[in-house]
Amino acid sequence: MPKVSTMDQLFLEEIRDLYDAEKQLTKALPKMAKAATSEDLKAAFQEHLEQTQGQVQRLEQVFELIGEKARGKKCAAMAGLIQESTEIVSETDDSPVRDAGLIAAAQKVEHYEISGYGSARTHAELLGNDEAARLLEETLNEEKETDQKLNELAQTVNMEADEESEDMEMDDEEEETAAPARASARSGSKSAAKTKSAGSSRNS
Ligand code: FE
Ligand code: FE
Ligand code: FE
Repeated sequence: MPKVSTMDQLFLEEIRDLYDAEKQLTKALPKMAKAATSEDLKAAFQEHLEQTQGQVQRLEQVFELIGEKARGKKCAAMAGLIQESTEIVSETDDSPVRDAGLIAAAQKVEHYEISGYGSARTHAELLGNDEAARLLEETLNEEKETDQKLNELAQTVNMEADEESEDMEMDDEEEETAAPARASARSGSKSAAKTKSAGSSRNS
């Protein structure tokens, strides 16, 4: 394969990467919606699936603008991020803890997209393709809004997950009456950790 030696070629590579990443997401998001237990989180994944379908179309418009055929090139990073979200699901039960993990995994996806679209938009501007830059920025803004929305959902979900974790620890401690010193040492460190994180319930 010839080397990528111009900004035009680099831009094309970036668009192909994003195109493949978005296509992978159109398959992953329905599974994430199904695995989520919170109705609000399910709805958020569902809504972002619809946006993602629109983002695929926007990328097809960008391919058209540069006179190239719409074709993806495997985005290894997105495959890895999706794999991590699948692992969260298999490692958890239906619970707020799973939702907290899914939100964290989904935000990693959004942050990857935000940096990919940010660079591609800037490169389109550099190449003087204002229409492509505008389309890419539109998607960039949707990804940022999604990240923000996930932050908001995390505030409730993280709290529920934390309460559930405390209930489970309380159950454990009741069973640990034979080792009271160890149990109280642990709950002591837990409340210390809590004080530290107070006021930082946002994920990003
Ligand atoms: Fe996207
Ligand atoms: Fe990629
Ligand atoms: Fe996204």
